[in-house]
Amino acid sequence: MTKFTVAICGGGVGGLACAVALSQYPDIRIDVYEAASKFLKSVVQALGWTGSSQRLPSSPLIIIQVGKANCFISTRGTTAPTYVIELSFNFRKGDQSEGYTFHQLYTPAILLRHLSASSRTYTSKRSSHSPIALRFKDGSTATCDVLIGADGVKSATRRRSSTSLRTPRSLRRAAQPRWSGIYAYRTTIPAEALRSRIPNHTVLREPMAYLGKDTQVTAYPLLHGKIINVAAFRTRYDSEGAPMKEPWVVDTTKDELAADFAGWEPEVQAMFQCTSKLSRWAIHTTERLPTFVSGRVALVGDSAHAAVPFQGAGAGQAIEDAYLLATLLGHPKTTLSTLTRALRIYDAVRRPYAQDVAKTSRECGMLFTLNYPGLSSQDIANGQAADKLRVIAETIRKKWSWAWDTTLDGDIQRAVRELEAS
Ligand SMILES: Cc1cc2nc3c(=O)[nH]c(=O)nc-3n(C[C@H](O)[C@H](O)[C@H](O)COP(=O)(O)OP(=O)(O)OC[C@H]3O[C@@H](n4cnc5c(N)ncnc54)[C@H](O)[C@@H]3O)c2cc1C
Repeated sequence: MTKFTVAICGGGVGGLACAVALSQYPDIRIDVYEAASKFLKSVVQALGWTGSSQRLPSSPLIIIQVGKANCFISTRGTTAPTYVIELSFNFRKGDQSEGYTFHQLYTPAILLRHLSASSRTYTSKRSSHSPIALRFKDGSTATCDVLIGADGVKSATRRRSSTSLRTPRSLRRAAQPRWSGIYAYRTTIPAEALRSRIPNHTVLREPMAYLGKDTQVTAYPLLHGKIINVAAFRTRYDSEGAPMKEPWVVDTTKDELAADFAGWEPEVQAMFQCTSKLSRWAIHTTERLPTFVSGRVALVGDSAHAAVPFQGAGAGQAIEDAYLLATLLGHPKTTLSTLTRALRIYDAVRRPYAQDVAKTSRECGMLFTLNYPGLSSQDIANGQAADKLRVIAETIRKKWSWAWDTTLDGDIQRAVRELEAS
């Protein structure tokens, strides 16, 4: 017998993780509505995909399996992890004519679990709903007892739930996405093309994080080393929060990239030279929301806490939201009449943690772009920065350590205890 129905708006990592986690509970009916014509389109763009055991440099790792593709995403575990220490990044000072590697970041990797999707799913369903009664752009409608907004940083669910509640203007403003001040140039390049320019380029074998003032380049091999994924960041922190009138994602040229990274070392320039198709993303985040829940509507993933990607954690955080929320909804104590209590516990337990991760991602972004107190441009120019660079690398490691030092277990137990006590 069905105890209630859950509609999930958005079929990215967060939405599908909710569907997978909820499908453990046969008494909950799940419908996933995705605006795009296929699932996980945004993840393919954002994270890269592999066909076998190739890894992204984010760790600890979780595997999402969709069809034949595996995706590796940084998250904490829900079970006791098996640790393997692996190289996450070579940190290299790159914004000068001759760069140098100053730190190797080794982190534990957790190979956690395979997830498979099993729920009713609909694509090409862009919702424009008021909560609970769903309306789609194609004219169709649906209803549900619980609505999960997993519709990303632009979330229609977040916007609608704040306006429909007649919340104060400040809260409605908080529901709008906010420019982080960061542009990311993104591309993939054939490893062969790079090899022909620099045969022993480190990125052909190992992940690299090149650090520079207000700029940063992350690059790592994919698909058994056949392709190199490159993300080059240009930060304008003084423009953080400024209105963004242009489209968030645009195609751009090598020349624009070269201008932003003028003076960088040859191994970075060589990667840029191999670029054929390049896009520029204006990275947006969500404000620190006062709640992830309103009535029977809950937000997960980027719709609740979109962050800058300097811990490779956004997708993993969406999965953690999904597991905690599903555990509460699937619990025998949660029925149609006690739903809102379960959602309130989700908000109370999950929100502080997810918002802290978003905050440390921003802090790591500042460090990756050498915005560090006491580190002056003059120190950098005079080559007097070695000690501070080491401190920066160590601080990044510490800020990232939540990912391997903690698990979701404690939060799940706390949430279940609260539910059972009620
Ligand atoms: C440049 C960049 C690099 C990144 N690198 C990493 C990384 O290495 N590791 C990592 O973990 N994270 C990374 N992220 C972050 C990661 O992509 C996100 O945190 C993650 O995709 C969030 O998942 P989500 O399901 O919440 O949202 P999304 O992935 O945005 O999915 C939302 C889904 O909802 C759908 N949708 C939107 N509106 C509607 C609607 N009205 N009705 C129905 N469906 C709708 C969308 O089509 C989409 O499929 C990166 C992000 C960026 C921008």
